[in-house]
Amino acid sequence: MNAIINARIYDYVTYIENGYLLYDEKIVEVGDMKNYKNEGYDKVEDFNGDLLIPTFVCAHSHIYSIFARGLALPFNPKNFQDILDQMWWKIDAQLDNKETYYSGIVAGSEFLLNGVTTVIDHHASGEIIGSLNSLRKAFVGPLKMRGIFCFETSDRYDVNKCLKENVNFAKKHPGEGLFGMHASMSISDKTLKRIAKVQNGLPVHVHVAESAMDVENCKEKYGKLIINRFDEAGILVPDSLIVHGVSLSDEELDIIAKRKCYMVVNTTSNMNNAVGLPFVKNYLDHGVPVLVGNDGLNSNMASEYMNVMFSAHLRAESPTALGVGEVGQMIRNAYEYAGRRLGVKLGQFKSGFEADFMRVKYTPFTKMDETNALGHIVFGLFPNFKPSDVYTYGKKRVKDYKIVGKSLQNQVIEARKYSEELWTKVKGGK
Ligand SMILES: [Zn+2]
Repeated sequence: MNAIINARIYDYVTYIENGYLLYDEKIVEVGDMKNYKNEGYDKVEDFNGDLLIPTFVCAHSHIYSIFARGLALPFNPKNFQDILDQMWWKIDAQLDNKETYYSGIVAGSEFLLNGVTTVIDHHASGEIIGSLNSLRKAFVGPLKMRGIFCFETSDRYDVNKCLKENVNFAKKHPGEGLFGMHASMSISDKTLKRIAKVQNGLPVHVHVAESAMDVENCKEKYGKLIINRFDEAGILVPDSLIVHGVSLSDEELDIIAKRKCYMVVNTTSNMNNAVGLPFVKNYLDHGVPVLVGNDGLNSNMASEYMNVMFSAHLRAESPTALGVGEVGQMIRNAYEYAGRRLGVKLGQFKSGFEADFMRVKYTPFTKMDETNALGHIVFGLFPNFKPSDVYTYGKKRVKDYKIVGKSLQNQVIEARKYSEELWTKVKGGK
């Protein structure tokens, strides 16, 4: 068993000014230094007043998109569909399972460096069968992270293979799979029916109303709103993830709440794609729990939470539309959701919870206690967030701002070769 001493310990519920933590793969005991007894632990780390907080969950990502970094393609989008056609659908169509694996390695390493250790991914690749297992292999192998995966079913792919990949992966790895769907606008009624037939209670993970195009397409083709369309097909089972929701009606939000689904907002991506902003206050007013993702755009959930808060003010035209209390609730929602799906306890410093946490250097120059710790975290820490040490399963994966482990470091370097191969294919060189 190991010990951390002299740490400011905070888990978005409880704050200990000067505390200790005993842990192995899981947390064993937490307390005030007044009650700490040195009982010959394997390793004792003195945090010297640094912060000890749980690592983050990213609730919606596209790990494969990491290889787009620096890739210049002819790009002159007039709308959201053009962004997909000119960029993302060109890239993902070329991915094979080896490149998918390496995208997991590099994206995962970046997540670790930013203190994100659990990722809910939405995957797409030309090679479909075995792709989710390739990502999982990177996560449970060298990265030692936690992941929930699904394949983005849509009519632009071989639908049989999409269905098979989602169903088989979830069957083989219970709790680690969701049923992936791209969006209403890329899924015909025939495909929707097939999904409902094989879904077997598996929650869906789907983009909804990311842009006005998705909404208009559904109205034009089916004469209804997207959530009504999905609900009538019977696919909105509890724990389904409704991603984006930039324009959703009150009626749709009531259905989402009734079906016990979650909204996942990705504000930075929405701003980048110029599709509008999610109306977070309205989701909360309808009793819909909100999670936050990065949509594959960056790996820093701290900045993502800040953008969600600021943009919620802008969207509601009210500086009090979303406070730090709601931000804390979103962070806790993510631990609750991912932990429950994965069958583990995440995000609290309590006996029996997973030892996934991080050390962050932060010296408060104003009083910090349980009443205002969240304000310090959101306004003081998040804008400059970088953990020095990141732990999963009680072991350091990041030490002194660097990835731990030669094999993982080497694989990150090897990944460049595969990214170059992918770029050649995308540019039509192969
Ligand atoms: Zn997305």
